Amino acid sequence: MKKTLTAIKKAITGAVPGLEPDLRLDGRGILTLSGGCESWNQVVDAGHAAAKIEGVKNVVNKLTVKGAAPPRPDYDAVCALGREAGVIAEADVLIIGAGISGCGIARELAKYDLRILVAEKGDDAGAGATKSNNGNIHPGHAVKPGTLKARLNVEGNRMYTQWARELGFELQRSGAMGFVTNYALVPALRVAYNTAMQNGVDGVELVDGARARELEPGLNRSEAGRKAVAALWLPSMGLVEPYKVAVALAENAAANGVRFMFNCAVGDILREDGRARGAVTSRGLIRARLVINCAGVYADDISAMAGDECFTIHPRKGVIAILDKARRPEYDSLCEHITFEDVKRAMKKQETKGGGMCRTPEWNILMGPSAVEIPDKEDLSTSPEELAYSMGRGEGPAPYGDIIRFFAGNRPADYSEDFVIEMSPVTHGFVNVAAIQSPGLAAAPAIARMVEGIVGEASAAEGSPLKKKADWQPLLQKKREFRNLTREEQDGLIKENPAYGRVICRCESITEGEILEVLKSPVVPASVDAVKRRTRAGMGRCQGGFCQPRVVELMARELGISWPDVVLKGPGSNILIKENREDGESA
Ligand SMILES: Cc1cc2nc3c(=O)[nH]c(=O)nc-3n(C[C@H](O)[C@H](O)[C@H](O)COP(=O)(O)OP(=O)(O)OC[C@H]3O[C@@H](n4cnc5c(N)ncnc54)[C@H](O)[C@@H]3O)c2cc1C
Repeated sequence: MKKTLTAIKKAITGAVPGLEPDLRLDGRGILTLSGGCESWNQVVDAGHAAAKIEGVKNVVNKLTVKGAAPPRPDYDAVCALGREAGVIAEADVLIIGAGISGCGIARELAKYDLRILVAEKGDDAGAGATKSNNGNIHPGHAVKPGTLKARLNVEGNRMYTQWARELGFELQRSGAMGFVTNYALVPALRVAYNTAMQNGVDGVELVDGARARELEPGLNRSEAGRKAVAALWLPSMGLVEPYKVAVALAENAAANGVRFMFNCAVGDILREDGRARGAVTSRGLIRARLVINCAGVYADDISAMAGDECFTIHPRKGVIAILDKARRPEYDSLCEHITFEDVKRAMKKQETKGGGMCRTPEWNILMGPSAVEIPDKEDLSTSPEELAYSMGRGEGPAPYGDIIRFFAGNRPADYSEDFVIEMSPVTHGFVNVAAIQSPGLAAAPAIARMVEGIVGEASAAEGSPLKKKADWQPLLQKKREFRNLTREEQDGLIKENPAYGRVICRCESITEGEILEVLKSPVVPASVDAVKRRTRAGMGRCQGGFCQPRVVELMARELGISWPDVVLKGPGSNILIKENREDGESA
């Protein structure tokens, strides 16, 4: 222990000269740091330096910048609401957070005879990091070998084929290629190849320039592509719309009996005799035999509420710019199979890696993300510098005029820079599924499978082994997207239901029928933004300028609420102030 503490002190002073924090290392290898720093980067650097020392399993980083602790949600207010409402539900399993992790686990456990409830503070499935990522089903070549992330990334990538088939979402196996135009960079490419081989990435090849151009003829159409001397070819790279995956998982889980509660924030964990017994939420108390923490950037707070403070999440912001898909022809040659990657940079400092240029399955080009450490988990601001960084991530800078929107997402990173997935050794019945930073989307199916194992073992140990349901239904019907149907199919659909003949979003050709379909979903979206993400109504060039009032009207009608009660995103974001005409139209 003494030797480890000396090594930690040395590592911290090496990373942040002059810093001498208070250290506490417990028998489990959890190191708690406290004291004051000059900047947020120092806080993060000290945490990373300490986490690298042998004997340190993870770091609880309580270092602050000149006495100012990072902002925190008002959990006391949540608890006051919840305790006043009393017990509102009983479940066998309570999942906190309906991101890709929570929804994947809910769907996996829905196979069993269990009462499952998902509490989500946002207004739809996928409201956290899951809605703001690149949608890359990474092959697993850029993850440190030997980590849990590496194993679950490669397994999850493979499992996506089955998820897509069963759940009807679009998975495009685009493949990815990282190439170099300079022989001096070939060794870096070889390091990436070796990493991919160690991780067991499917189909990876290290090829010369000629073979690269054969595999990706688009290279011949760009100057850099013509100069490529070697490339890493990763055919297993996939592309999805992440939000749609989360919603499909939630809908299938709901069809198999899982209950989702949106606008339901957890403020505390109920505990009795050293085990988790449920949670206090903003809507009331939920009692449960098992609690699974999938709360993204807040997973450290939830774990601390359960009495197991064993890691700290330090949010790492990424800004992504979305380009107009009308410009596809200009980017066609660059992005069909390729995500550009500065291989040298990627290998240099894996934990702060940003992204390059890629596309969505719908052919919007995504530039970025950036990667910046920030103290505030709610900070989704976008600065000109971050945007400039992301816009410069392609082969040449992309024109700003092509941007239709830019946004930020926060990666939930811990200091071990690995996933934390385990039954708490301190609080029985409490499972952490935390620090699910990139490639968390790619790894999601394997994460769900791993948690199924943890729950199965715990249930068996308690004498009540999991029982499969006889009527579990793994299939979800594919959603009809009017714009992607043939003329004949469109005519047939309009005859069947005239609502498909009324176009609500002109930019994206989204019909009333499609919007009504999501409003009748077993997991109803609770905001205009959620409807936008599910249908694409409002995602085009005009960004909802024309269709938003129609969406508000449809939501009010279908959900049986007044127009002013319809929110843009979350409580308090009402779009209209009041109804001021007797015929029901709103001001
Ligand atoms: C910019 C960016 C790009 C990325 N690109 C990729 C990529 O291309 N491929 C890839 O594999 N990964 C990518 N990632 C990582 C990926 O997005 C995450 O790993 C993944 O979304 C994590 O999912 P999650 O369900 O664990 O967390 P989240 O999606 O964040 O879900 C956590 C949920 O918990 C809820 N919650 C939090 N606190 C509470 C509470 N107190 N009570 C109730 N609910 C609560 C939140 O509202 C949220 O919905 C990217 C991430 C970012 C930020």
